[in-house]
Amino acid sequence: MLIVRLIADAAHLSATVDAAIADLEAQGVRVAGAAMLQSGAPVMELDLPDAGEEAVRAVLDRHFAPSDVLIADHPPVIPHLFISDMDSTMIGQECIDELADFANLKPQIAAITERAMQGELDFASALRERVLLLKGLSETAITRCLDERIAPMAGAATLVATLKAHGCRTVLVTGGFHQFADPVADMLGFEHVVANRLEVADGALTGGLVGPICDSSTKLATLIEEAAAIGTHARSLATGDGANDIPMIAAASYGVAYHAKPKARAAANGWVDRGDLTAVLHLLGIPARDWVN
Ligand SMILES: [Mg+2]
Repeated sequence: MLIVRLIADAAHLSATVDAAIADLEAQGVRVAGAAMLQSGAPVMELDLPDAGEEAVRAVLDRHFAPSDVLIADHPPVIPHLFISDMDSTMIGQECIDELADFANLKPQIAAITERAMQGELDFASALRERVLLLKGLSETAITRCLDERIAPMAGAATLVATLKAHGCRTVLVTGGFHQFADPVADMLGFEHVVANRLEVADGALTGGLVGPICDSSTKLATLIEEAAAIGTHARSLATGDGANDIPMIAAASYGVAYHAKPKARAAANGWVDRGDLTAVLHLLGIPARDWVN
């Protein structure tokens, strides 16, 4: 059983939904239902009792891209746990790239970040390489960077506040740094943060990190630990955009790739390619009248 929830451009949706259903049926996929999720909501729900996910994904992309989608083997519920990446997911920036600009190293460091997020480089060594390049940068650059460069992703605060209001635990887990993630978590309302920490001595970055590296395995372990603390019934939502989010996204009940790199999108059972983060609320079936802004 697959339940597909879909948001696409309205004109596009009405023009193509019949063609998409015909396409599914031509491939032997039975469509047991296709209806708007609630009156007034922009979400279409397809009920596919015996479909395979790969065939469905291909049809959705062919007819509706760009779309926002959640695919589940049950009617989705409001999750008990929300765990999210930070950079380019909950905020619009990559913190280390913006911080590098204060050291006049943005092009060099951003090039490494991009390759790491595409999954072309080992995350830990790519992180250490970039942090080392920042050696000697004044600690005050972090405060300036936060004030001048870092901004929440559209819909981030509403997503976090609304899920919390519905009893969901919220955790920010990032390969970035506590020096950024802690203030971002405070701003957006996350209850817990897992991150790396830049080492500072005598008011300047040393080029090193304090403690173990938070990487893709840490993100996955955090998801597993947090879900276990809730109980075996826990449904989890994970959002992220980069290669280091893949194990976490793949393990979550609802793994949503947010305007993501292709490898992360391929590992997810949901994606937001067109909307902002409030699309996730729509896909979970939480109507806008129940959102907390
Ligand atoms: Mg990211």
